[in-house]
Amino acid sequence: MSHLLLVEDNALVASGIQAGLALHGLHSDWAPSARAAQAHLAARAYDACVLDLGLPDGDGMQLLRRWRAAGQTLPVLILSARSTLQDKVQGLQDGSDDYLAKPFDLPELVARLQALMRRAGGRASAHLHIAGYDIDMDSASVWQQGQRVELARREWALLQALIQARGRVLSPAQLHDHLYGLAQDVESNAINVHVHHLRKKLGPHLIETVRGQGFRLGGPP
Ligand code: CA
Repeated sequence: MSHLLLVEDNALVASGIQAGLALHGLHSDWAPSARAAQAHLAARAYDACVLDLGLPDGDGMQLLRRWRAAGQTLPVLILSARSTLQDKVQGLQDGSDDYLAKPFDLPELVARLQALMRRAGGRASAHLHIAGYDIDMDSASVWQQGQRVELARREWALLQALIQARGRVLSPAQLHDHLYGLAQDVESNAINVHVHHLRKKLGPHLIETVRGQGFRLGGPP
């Protein structure tokens, strides 16, 4: 599943956004300050970031400029009460990928984030055709010859990570991070179990084992 970083100092606003994102299958970590955002970003990879500008220990724009100067390519959507045209232009020029002014509607935030992540994954459309499967990234659904293939939440998350990696090999540790984040105590063979289940549902070839390295998206034999 997608994993977002939410940088927002207002706890009430943050919990509302997190709940809304979760309804759409978007998991998020909350950073109430620039310092916390920095720590989260150093600890794991995120699919996108929602960035407030007025933070208790600094300005979100400065944080973003620092990230971009350091080569951080994470898709960033600025969500701010600063809503003049000049604010928006400045934000986009200084490295944000999108800008939404508060007050905002949750469905618009979710749709913009999904579009951002699609573009970051190099896909203009949410619909993919891979090795005989039709896959819709936004609704997390897979079809084979018109038949829906039911995947468990973690199975989908694993498949999604491999699709987004676009043929690169992901190690079990990277996949574990994508599925569970940092906090949870999970059995060490969990990834292998999910791969096993996915292969039973989608056939043996879609997920390739690269010996000693991990897994990648394969194709038909
Ligand atoms: Ca704020």
